[in-house]
Amino acid sequence: MIISGLIIIVEFEVIMFKRILVANRGEIALRIIRCAREMDIETVIVYSTADKESLPVMGANYSVCIGPNSPKDSYLNQDAIIETAIKMECDAIHPGYGFLSENAEFAKKCEENNITFIGPSSELISKMGDKQEARKLMMNNGVRVVPGSREIIKDVDEALEIAEEIGYPVLIKASAGGGGRGMRKVFEKEELPKLFEMAKAEAKAAFANDDMYIEKLIINPRHIEVQILADKHENVIALGERDCSIQKNNQKMLEESPACGLSDEKRKEISDMAILAGKVSGYNSVGTCEFVLDKDDNFYFIEMNTRIQVEHPVTEEVSNVDLIRQQIRVAAGLKLDITNEDVSICGHAIEFRIIAKTPGVIKNLHLPGGFGVRVETHLYNGYEITPFYDPMIAKVIVKGKNRLEVIRRLRRVLEEIVIDGIETNIVFLHQLTFHPDFLKGNYDTGFYEKESKKILSWINESKNMKKEA
Ligand code: ADP
Ligand code: ADP
Ligand code: MG
Repeated sequence: MIISGLIIIVEFEVIMFKRILVANRGEIALRIIRCAREMDIETVIVYSTADKESLPVMGANYSVCIGPNSPKDSYLNQDAIIETAIKMECDAIHPGYGFLSENAEFAKKCEENNITFIGPSSELISKMGDKQEARKLMMNNGVRVVPGSREIIKDVDEALEIAEEIGYPVLIKASAGGGGRGMRKVFEKEELPKLFEMAKAEAKAAFANDDMYIEKLIINPRHIEVQILADKHENVIALGERDCSIQKNNQKMLEESPACGLSDEKRKEISDMAILAGKVSGYNSVGTCEFVLDKDDNFYFIEMNTRIQVEHPVTEEVSNVDLIRQQIRVAAGLKLDITNEDVSICGHAIEFRIIAKTPGVIKNLHLPGGFGVRVETHLYNGYEITPFYDPMIAKVIVKGKNRLEVIRRLRRVLEEIVIDGIETNIVFLHQLTFHPDFLKGNYDTGFYEKESKKILSWINESKNMKKEA
C-alpha cells in the first residue's frame, strides 16, 4: 500500500473469526469490543434493558436486547444468547468474566452449535470447576496443593476425622465454589458440625451443588496467582505473577505485579508450578493458577480460574502481551506466537478497582490520565449505575519503572479522579496508599480486616481537619 510516498507494510494475521458475540456488560465488554476492532473482527453485543444506554452497546457493530434487567433473564439466559449468535451469524462467543464464563454447560452448547466458545473446552471447564477434582489431578501430578481431603466428604463424621488428621484450624470449602462463597473457617472441633452444615447449605443455594472438601487453613497467607496462556497445540506459557492479597470479604480490591519480596528462585518455582498445572490439565486458553503463600514462603495451589480475570491488565502492563487478543487467537486454533523465553516482565504495575457503593447517575466525571495510566471503564457523564449488577465500575492501572514510582503515580491519580453522583471507595484507596505496610509491600490476606478501621479513621481525621480549616 502506498500512501503519500510512504510504503507501509501491513501485516495481516489470518483469524478465522469474522464476527463474535460478546456475552457480557460493563468494562470487560468494552475491552473485548475494542480488541476485536483492532483485529478486524465484528462484534455483536447482547444486552439487558438496563444496559440499553451503555458504551458497549454503542461501541459494538451490532446490538441485540436479550431480556430484562435480571441477570438470569439476560446475561445468564443461555438459550437466548446462543439463538442470537446463530441468527447474527457469529463464529464465536466471548463470555468475559463472571456470568457464563465458567459455565461448562454453556460452553458445551456453544460447541454443539458450532460456535467457538472463547475460553477452554467445556470438558476443561468442568474438570477445573470441580475444585476437589482439580486438587486431585494436581496432587497426582506433582503440583503442591494445600494439605487436606483427597475426596469429597461424605458427612460430618468424615469431616471431623479429616480435620483431626490435618489439624485445626481448617477451611471447609465447596467444590463448586467461587467468589469466596461456600467457605467456612473452623478453629475448633466443637464448631465444625454447625459450620460444615452452614457451608453446605450456602453451597447448595449458590451453586446447586453441595459437594464439600477440607483444606488446612493457612493463617493470613498471601494470595499469589500466575497468569498462564496456552494454545490448542500443547504450548503453555506463564506471564508472571500477581499479588492479590488486599481483599475485602474474599473480593480483590487491588492487585499488583510483580509480587513484592519474592526471590527470583521462588518466582520461578511458582511460575513453573503454574505451567505444570497447565500442562497436566491439558489447558488451552488463558487461565489463572491461584496459590496461597504462607509465612515461610511455602506456596500451595488452590484453584485454577478458566477465564480472563478482572485483574488481567496488570499482567498486560508488565509483560506487554494483549491477553484478550491472545485469548481470541488461541480460541481460533492459532499457535501461540510467544514462548516462555520471549516473556519479559518489565517494571511494576498496580490496579485498583473502583466500586460503586450506591446506585445513581454519574456527574462531573473526570478520569485520570497522563504517563503510565490506563483506565478501563464504561462510565460517562449521565450514565446510570443500576443496582442489578456487579458494583465494580472502573479499573485504573498504573505502571512505572519501580513500585515507588507507581505508588506516587497512584496517589496522584486518586487525587485527580472525580466521580460525582454516587459514593465510591476512592477515598479509602487514597488513604491506603499512605499505609506504612502497604508502602513496604508488607501485606497479606488479613490486611484489610486488620487495618481497614485505622484507614477509615484517617479519612475522618482529614475530613475534620478540612472542616476546621
Ligand atoms: P476471583 O477473585 O475469583 O479471581 P475476580 O475478582 O477476577 O474473581 O472477578 C470475577 C468474579 O467477580 C466473578 O466470578 C463474579 O462473581 C464477579 N464479577 C466480576 N465482574 C462481573 C460482571 N461484569 N458481571 C457479573 N459478575 C462479575
Ligand atoms: P473462590 O473459588 O471462591 O475464589 P478460592 O479457593 O480461590 O475460592 O479461595 C478464595 C480466597 O480464600 C483466596 O484468595 C485466599 O485468600 C483464601 N484461601 C483459600 N484457601 C485458603 C486456605 N487453605 N488457607 C487460607 N486462605 C485460603
Ligand atoms: Mg479463587
